[in-house]
Amino acid sequence: MKNCDQFRDLIEAYALGALDPQERAAVEAHLATGCLDCAKAVEEARWLVSQLAYAAPEAAPSDMLKGRLMQTVRAEAQSHAKPHVMPSKSAIPFWLWTAVAALLLFSIYSAWNARRLQDEIRQANDRASQLLAERQKAEEDLADAKRQAMVMMDPSSHKIALWGEHAHPETLEAKWHSQFGVCIVGDKVPMPSANHVLQLWFIPKKEGMPPMPSAMVRPDASGKIMIYVSAPPESMDDTKAIAITEEPAGGSGWPTTPILWSGNVT
Ligand SMILES: [Zn+2]
Repeated sequence: MKNCDQFRDLIEAYALGALDPQERAAVEAHLATGCLDCAKAVEEARWLVSQLAYAAPEAAPSDMLKGRLMQTVRAEAQSHAKPHVMPSKSAIPFWLWTAVAALLLFSIYSAWNARRLQDEIRQANDRASQLLAERQKAEEDLADAKRQAMVMMDPSSHKIALWGEHAHPETLEAKWHSQFGVCIVGDKVPMPSANHVLQLWFIPKKEGMPPMPSAMVRPDASGKIMIYVSAPPESMDDTKAIAITEEPAGGSGWPTTPILWSGNVT
């Protein structure tokens, strides 16, 4: 039949289910005329597509991929469609064309698959390093919590009563462990003004040494505070007192307000 040739180029895409509705309707209308040659070609193309699906490392290409493949194949075909380089249809046997088409499709598909796999590997690596970082943070937090518990519970910790001065009569309790650091806990602590924090200071014994700035905290909604300093700036023996002032958020290098609480270390 004369008009078969115009359908031959569409049969691969038809078998892949990648034709525009218009083109598909045209192919189906032609097949409906009972053209045995084209029906056979469709059968072969379907076989080829099923072989492609077997050869592919995963299931058959998704609909989206088929669409992309055919776009690529068409673009390729158009870019080579100059009359002087276009071989005549009869110069290329059908079986060769299908073999080349199959290899082309498979090569595009495997390249796409490799790119997708690389993406997945990269995402998995990102996720793994994120999980490792979270794990490391959790381990550090746990180690910190254990040290805090040691400071609070070990009978060898030195207890320091912090007395409120000025308008804060509540007392806080501090415990200093020679190895694990200093913990300060308090209850019903008045909230500092907005954008302010309570800042801890270590006051050295040595004359003329300035107070050393340390941790900052804001009480929780119920007024509880918990400060933990794992590595105080001076040893217990070299520290005269610890004190707390209210400072702007971010803390100060030097106390800018009167002491709210303080306690003698030794
Ligand atoms: Zn036909």
